[in-house]
Amino acid sequence: MPYEAHSDDSLAFDTLQLHAGYDPSEHHLSKAVPIYQTSAFELGNFDRCERLFNYEEEGHSYVRFSNPTNDVLEKRIAALEGGAAAVSMASGMAAISNTLLNLAQAGDEIAAVKTLYGGSTTLLGKVLPDYGINPSWIDDPDDLDQYRSAINDKTRALYIESLGNPSMNIIDIEAVAGIAHEAGVPLVVDSTFATPYLLRPFDFGADIVCHSATKYISGHGTTIGGIVVERGGFDWRTGRFPQVERFIAENSQFIEAETLAHTAFTRRLRMRYLTELGGHMSPMTAFLTLMGVETLSLRMQRHAENALAIATFLEAHPAVMEVAYPSLPSSPYHALAEKYFPRGSGAILSIRVRGGLEGAKRVLERVRIFDYMVNVGDTKSLVVHPATSIHHGLSTEVQEHAGVFPDTLRLSVGTEDVGDLIRDLAQALEG
Ligand code: PLP
Repeated sequence: MPYEAHSDDSLAFDTLQLHAGYDPSEHHLSKAVPIYQTSAFELGNFDRCERLFNYEEEGHSYVRFSNPTNDVLEKRIAALEGGAAAVSMASGMAAISNTLLNLAQAGDEIAAVKTLYGGSTTLLGKVLPDYGINPSWIDDPDDLDQYRSAINDKTRALYIESLGNPSMNIIDIEAVAGIAHEAGVPLVVDSTFATPYLLRPFDFGADIVCHSATKYISGHGTTIGGIVVERGGFDWRTGRFPQVERFIAENSQFIEAETLAHTAFTRRLRMRYLTELGGHMSPMTAFLTLMGVETLSLRMQRHAENALAIATFLEAHPAVMEVAYPSLPSSPYHALAEKYFPRGSGAILSIRVRGGLEGAKRVLERVRIFDYMVNVGDTKSLVVHPATSIHHGLSTEVQEHAGVFPDTLRLSVGTEDVGDLIRDLAQALEG
């Protein structure tokens, strides 16, 4: 019987995460995805070189643009997200920054919420403005009118996170996708904390999804990586994206214009940005990330189960003032969690402890299983003080908008025994 699981997108998530995008018959029947640890590929002959550089023939020439190992990862994540195409990048920030540069030019704006990872807030507020791309901030992510007011003729994207870092707020993706589309603007979602197992933003109208693959997608705290996925079919030819229209016109000699337009975003990302800004993921990282993806659903089930148990324990603890975890019935985001996260709302918890900064410091210094680290999404449990690390250098006002106070701790709940984790937190919080 022929092996066809690699190209059957109708298979269930747990099957796709093991098979999608990899056809062993194209790789000497190796069952594991090979690591193509090379800088470049032989071009073969003169005519083939021309065809490759005209994008007339699919293939690989130089690893700054593409590599067969990365190609499997890109196809696998696209299949898991229900998207048309993906590009693997050197980090989550490379995924986000290249995405925004691909969408906006000097004079344009990006409408964005303030409940973002600190690096993304800094990119939008302090780096992109130096290149003439300015943010149009949405102060309250729960107020749909603010999205409408933030979008104008200069807007080239609406940017949100599916679970805010670290405030764990949930945005009504379907509603904000509708607002973005009314204006002809794509919705870009950083879905790092959710992963495609817990949420597929394309099912609710998002156009582009970015991930830090450093986190749950690779899952074991071994690599830095990012991935950008395109749903496919966004209408780029409305006059709002002249750079994309030019790109389609320039390349339609060898790729049919409609095919190009369907995934114009990821094609341009690869052909202009990987090529000229050089932020591709390394093949070794692609391999390690694929290893992680094989168990994504299993890990996310355990992560979410542990997180809910810990959130429930912390909510009842006298030394904890607040627990932000949307699956808790007391959360203001509980209804949205039921709609968007029926399998659990991830495994990051933001808590505020009694005793201010000193109280937070005390917990950090007493935990014995939770590790004091800025990362999240590891199988091991981690804890960090956002105000002095991931949100360091941002003003108090910006920090507070992101749900960061001196007494805030962010927990990334791992897959350890949940009883051990609860006992660890209990002893760290003891009076
Ligand atoms: N997006 C979110 C939500 C994150 O938490 C992070 C990193 O913590 C990033 C993006 C950036 O990812 P990376 O560290 O892989 O560049």
